[in-house]
Amino acid sequence: MRRAVCPGSFDPVTNGHLDIVGRASKLFDEVVVAVGVNKSKNRLFDAEERMDMLRQACAGFDNVQVAGFRGLLTDFCSEHDIIAIVKGLRAVSDFDYELQMAQMNASLAPIETVFVPTSPEYSFLASSLVKEVAAFGGDVSGLVPDFVRELLTVRLAERAAAGD
Ligand code: ADP
Repeated sequence: MRRAVCPGSFDPVTNGHLDIVGRASKLFDEVVVAVGVNKSKNRLFDAEERMDMLRQACAGFDNVQVAGFRGLLTDFCSEHDIIAIVKGLRAVSDFDYELQMAQMNASLAPIETVFVPTSPEYSFLASSLVKEVAAFGGDVSGLVPDFVRELLTVRLAERAAAGD
């Protein structure tokens, strides 16, 4: 049984993430989408909300499960019998950092990193940019699942009302 992980913060999940998860699910027997739950980062959605969104968004993939992780990704991989980390590459700018991270992870544990090139229609897509566009009233349909767009609208309105 060959199990891989797609790690990220998924704040919130985008169609770019789902494209990579779906393609990874065809390459491996099982895929774990691992959501970083470290408290230190400033997130729009908390860890449980991000995991719930992913569970709903990944419901159509029968070999994909969602989990939270804190600490080293390589420790999570060892604990869950994971042999590969799957990362999407959007641009050359992703590559420098991802190569360094892949080599660091390989030095920490016997784990391969598999790079999957982004589908062209998602190459500009990042959660941070989706939040920024949505915060200024831009239309993000087609970039995130519809139910995520609705949750995003509600959360941004709450934040705006709270003066954030
Ligand atoms: P962000 O989406 O803001 O870059 P994440 O940490 O949630 O941040 O992303 C997790 C991983 O998902 C990234 O490291 C990358 O491998 C992949 N990814 C994110 N967006 C895309 C995309 N548009 N196309 C391909 N892969 C992506």
